[in-house]
Amino acid sequence: LNTNQTIFHKIINREVPADIIFEDSKVIAFRDISPISPEHILIVPKASISKLSDADIKDEALLGHMLLVAKDVAIKLGFADDGFRVVINSGEKAGQTVFQLHMHLLGGRDFSWPPG
Ligand code: AMP
Repeated sequence: LNTNQTIFHKIINREVPADIIFEDSKVIAFRDISPISPEHILIVPKASISKLSDADIKDEALLGHMLLVAKDVAIKLGFADDGFRVVINSGEKAGQTVFQLHMHLLGGRDFSWPPG
């Protein structure tokens, strides 16, 4: 029994609905429920990893896969050429609120640097 069931696990298990853009055996990608840009997709591994700081060498291929899925989704949705941003918040001080590792894919507008 997994005692660390986040909302994202419930989306993976189809217990909670989501606007799913892409899925394979390792990850799922769906639209953020409260988007901060016209395009805002979350790329979430199916394996339980609470945050990036908990990942280790066995997750190396999975982490690379998440980046490739992000750019493939950006291409598929048509905003890759305009530019996009990927963000991982790791830990509460970084703004992480859901403690299942996820990558934000942001597009459809200009982004400033440094981020807030
Ligand atoms: P973070 O602050 O990096 O932990 O991001 C968590 C993200 O999950 C936020 O952008 C939320 O809007 C998003 N989120 C929370 N619940 C859901 C949900 N049920 N479906 C889609 N996105 C969600």
